[in-house]
Amino acid sequence: MSEARVLEYIEEHRDEMISFLRRLVRIDTQTPPGLNYDVISDVVADKLFDLGCDVCIHEAPEKYMELSGAKFMGLEGPRSNVVARYPGKTGKPVLHISAHIDTAAIQEEGWTVDPLGGEITEDCPYGRSDSDRGGGYIWGRGVADDKGELVSMIYALQAVHELGIKLDGDLILTANCDEEIGGVAGLGFLMQEGIVKADYGVQWDGGLTGIGLAAQGRTRFLVRTRGVSHHGQVPILGVNAIEKMSKINVALTDYWREVLLKRQKEVPGIELGSALKERGITKMTAMLNIGTIKGGVQGATVPDLCEEEVLRGMIPGETFDDVREEFVGVIEAVKAGDPDLVYEVEVINSREGYVVSPEDLYVREARDIVREVTGRTLPFTGTLASTDMNYQVNEGGMPCFNLGVGGPYSNGHKQDESASIDEIVDCAKIAALIYMRKLKTSD
Ligand SMILES: [Zn+2]
Repeated sequence: MSEARVLEYIEEHRDEMISFLRRLVRIDTQTPPGLNYDVISDVVADKLFDLGCDVCIHEAPEKYMELSGAKFMGLEGPRSNVVARYPGKTGKPVLHISAHIDTAAIQEEGWTVDPLGGEITEDCPYGRSDSDRGGGYIWGRGVADDKGELVSMIYALQAVHELGIKLDGDLILTANCDEEIGGVAGLGFLMQEGIVKADYGVQWDGGLTGIGLAAQGRTRFLVRTRGVSHHGQVPILGVNAIEKMSKINVALTDYWREVLLKRQKEVPGIELGSALKERGITKMTAMLNIGTIKGGVQGATVPDLCEEEVLRGMIPGETFDDVREEFVGVIEAVKAGDPDLVYEVEVINSREGYVVSPEDLYVREARDIVREVTGRTLPFTGTLASTDMNYQVNEGGMPCFNLGVGGPYSNGHKQDESASIDEIVDCAKIAALIYMRKLKTSD
């Protein structure tokens, strides 16, 4: 009875929810640099306070900025995180739902709509959401990743609160920062400091196409080679830092193709997506990408410095220490054959991977709720990318899954990001049913 009323309430308040979303989209929170976290946190905190939550804004201290790689990435502004607790009658169990307030960067060119506008249209020229019931689409950076999710988890609570439904357990909502760049000063900080502790987790981020249970970890390395500058027409008297880096890159490429690609972890019951399947990859697989390179000033000068960023994708179970040792070992082997090689390796940041069992009762219940709301049975999925869920699983030790707004139509991280309004409504309904069933209601 009360569940049906909650779902009805959410339908009735869809316009209000979308206006609130538009308000959040207009606050530019792309990272880097990650400005305006304090501004958006105030808006979200006020809203959650009005819904009966005990609310606190936690700013990550300097230490977490350093661990984030702030000096390499040009981060600016306070790292604000909203933590809201909606107290239940007994306080047990505790459910934690997390969405992120930051967004991917906004490309300077290629947008056909205002990326901070929140415009609404009837159709989407990039495809159609499976949830589309004619409710239209909203446009702008973050509508699908992750501000649509953020408003849906808030309006799910609003329905429960305004209808006077009493929960037994406590609900913790966090609106955390910096997910797009590793979440170290966001959910990483909240979990590591013990600010958030819960029995069950929901990572409200992703798409409404699969229930995410597994992700890879990643470590971002900065590699530098140093040479000796000289006139470029007499290079024999210098040491060329770019040549040295080229040797390292040949070794890293061999290491990736011959060693890492064969390092796999089985994830039974979890799908990895059709693009990978077509390349013969059905298991979590270690990866490496040489992402940037820079060095030298002109053809007539032997470069004395070369620098690049390398991202190492880690399968669940691989630890940061092991990965760093192995990575440095590859470069050391090059140095063994070239005593002139002078290099440095720095770590920008790192997070480890995870797998949640698809047999877990909690995630199966979640899949049933998604089916009730959308009429679709979503597959359990894994990603070679990563989300903030690693902190809930690895630091928090809670069963967890990730789910959210978006699909192939929504252009996540690309130009012209959009979200189906019906999908945001569905996410609010799913969140509300999870709150009510997991935290029990006794009226
Ligand atoms: Zn996201």
